[in-house]
Parts: sequence; structure tokens; C-alpha cells
Amino acid sequence: MAKNTKKKGSASGAKQSTMGAPMLLLVLLCLAGLVLGVWLISTNSTGTSGNSHEIAMQVGQSRTLETTLTAPFTCSVSNDKIIRIDENHLMTALSPGTAVIVAESTSGSRETFYITVSGDPNVTLPPPGDTTTTTTSTTTFSSDATTTTTTATLAPGSVTGIELTFYAISLKVGEHKMPIVTMSPANATDKTEKWTTSDESVATVDWLGNITAVGAGICTIRVTSVNNPAVYAEVAVTVAGDTAQTPGNIELINGVTYVDGILIANKTYALPKDYAPGVNTEAKAAFDRMQLAAASAMLDINIVSGYRSYATQEATYNRFVNRDGQAAADTYSARPGHSEHQTGLAFDINYAGASFANTPEAEWLAKNCWKYGFIIRYPEGKEHITGYQYEPWHVRYLGADTAEKVYNSGLTLEEYLGITSKYAD
Ligand SMILES: [Zn+2]
Repeated sequence: MAKNTKKKGSASGAKQSTMGAPMLLLVLLCLAGLVLGVWLISTNSTGTSGNSHEIAMQVGQSRTLETTLTAPFTCSVSNDKIIRIDENHLMTALSPGTAVIVAESTSGSRETFYITVSGDPNVTLPPPGDTTTTTTSTTTFSSDATTTTTTATLAPGSVTGIELTFYAISLKVGEHKMPIVTMSPANATDKTEKWTTSDESVATVDWLGNITAVGAGICTIRVTSVNNPAVYAEVAVTVAGDTAQTPGNIELINGVTYVDGILIANKTYALPKDYAPGVNTEAKAAFDRMQLAAASAMLDINIVSGYRSYATQEATYNRFVNRDGQAAADTYSARPGHSEHQTGLAFDINYAGASFANTPEAEWLAKNCWKYGFIIRYPEGKEHITGYQYEPWHVRYLGADTAEKVYNSGLTLEEYLGITSKYAD
């Protein structure tokens, strides 16, 4: 819609000779207002949870629509001659242009996607149901048993499928591995491969398909048929961090430890007794946004414990030591000065106890908190690294950029920064 309006704008500009300059300016201002108005209306109509996204595709390309919706959802498309979406949310770009897809979940949440399809305007794939010369190609991902099916009209000898010797791989930084590619049918005339990576800071790939791990994280390596770009196969790459080789830059500022600029309070690094910042306002604002997002998924999340002073932590810890002994208390309660709650950046959500673990709120939090700048600070199975038992309720604010990186790395904050969490005695 916005694109059409812009086109009208340039058409008016072309007729400059028949119109005076002040009149032209007036017309342009009106058009600008119209564009703004239309934009505001479409932004509002997406509702409170309505995130909007832009996706660029090429004619013939297929990809699955990814949303943050947690409930099952259905999709509607503004122009099915430009893009088609099937019941498995697989989008196929049919012809150049722009279209809008609205995904609406059964719980009423919505997300809007603005799709721009580029490509040769003379090449248009047939709409669904056109079966003149239809070939179906199927790529099966053995790692998670999902199947991608694309349908297109193809010339004889076209590539219709790609198989790999593996679809998922874990590497250490510096390691290489190359999958063997089989394109079908065997008599396809052009089996040229095109290799791409979704994140070259995690893994790179050369023109032969040789994958090299570069940095900790996860990414996707894709091989596409140059002959038929609708056909591709992907390898999910996980690169583990080597904590021993990448210690962060540790600074002590007024007794507070920062590693690569991130404030740290754990069993190794304590906060001064007089460090009393209160609840961090940025972290609280981020929590408030996260709480709204959870509410739109019909979930209720609340802070049951936020900032705790040194003195409060001292009293809490001593109570646990008296009850269970110091060795036991150290597994679930921080010694004074070592609690992340003293930073004002940590919150306990809903219920600080094991029964929180299997609630829908815990599941939602684990999946979504990074989007609001938080991480689950003490994950399951990482007790020996963080020094604490699994605490699905305890989130730590890092800011959206860092939280996303830590989340994508699959590492604890200690591993991510290359630091320890152990009491000195
Ligand atoms: Zn906590």
C-alpha cells in the first residue's frame, strides 16, 4: 500500500511542468501526510502484541514463516499472486512485489510480516492448483524430521532435491567439516551449488561446502541449487565456546567487578558491602515490557524478589546456614556480597521454588526473556559452572543485545565471559 502511494508521488513529480512549484509542494505534503496516516493506522491495527517484521525474498524461494507466537496460529496473505503460504507456514515467493502476511494465534496474538519479493518480473511461478508441468521436490531434515516441500514448474533436467550426509553438527572453534551433497535427479543438467551462512561470526562456508567454526553460537549453513533456487538443504551448526581460551577483560571499578563491561556478582566476584544501587530502572522497564508480552500470551508474570541489600542477604544466608548448615546453604543461597540481587539487575519471577519449573510461565520465560534483555541465569545442568542449582525463576538483566548473544550461544554467563564462580575458601 505504501509502495503504491510512493509511486503516485513520483508520478506527480514527473508532471512538474504542468503544475506550479507551491502547488507541487502542497501535493507532496498531502501525500506525505497520507503515507504517515496509513502507516499509523496499519501499525495500530496490529494490536498490543503486534510486532511487525520485514522479510525479503526472491521469486522461487521458499522459507518457513517464523513467529514468536506461542499458541497455534493461522496466516492470511494480502496478495496470493505474490506470495503463497501453506498450512505448515511455508511461504513461497511467486512474483515480484510486496504483500502482507498476518499471523494470528488461537489466543488472539498477532504478528505482521511485510514481504518484499524481488526477482525477474518476467518470471512468475504458477499459483497453487496450476498443474501444467508440476514437479514436487522434497528435502527431508533427518535431524528433526521436519520436511520442506516446494512445488514449482520446472524445465526438464532441473534439480528437484538435495540430500546431505548430515543436517546438524557440533564443532569447536577452528574445526572444519564438509557434508557430501547429492542433487537429484541423477541426470539433472546443472548441479551447481551455492553455499551461504546465516551468521559468519559463528561459522563460514566456502564454495565447496567446507564449514569452518569461527565463534561460539548457533547458525544455519544452506546449500541452494543454482539451477532451481527453490530447492535447498540446511545444516544446523552449533559451535561450542572454549572458556579456557577466551577470558573476558576484567575491571574493578569502585570495588565492583565488570567483565567485558558486564557487571558480575557470583561466587568468585563479590560486591562491596556499601554497594546499594536499588532496583535498576532500565531492568525494571524491560521487565514491565516483558510482563505485557507475557500477558498477551495469557500468562501472568510478577517479580517476587528484586533488589536485596547486603544486610538483607546477610540475614537470609545466615538463616539458611543455621537451618541446613553452610555446605547445603551455599548450593542455593548466596553469601552476602555475592548475591546477584544486590546488583538490582536480577529478579525472581512468580515463585522461587522447584514447582515453578514446569509452569507455562517458566516455559515462556525461558523461551522469550532474551528478547527483553534477560537470561535465565542459573540453567539446568550447569550447577558446576554457575555454582547454583537450576533456578528457572531467576532472571538477570543484560540488555537486549548481550542477552540475545548469550542466549544464542547456549552458554552460561560464566562460560560466555570465560570466568569462574567459586568461593575462595
Ligand atoms: Zn534470585
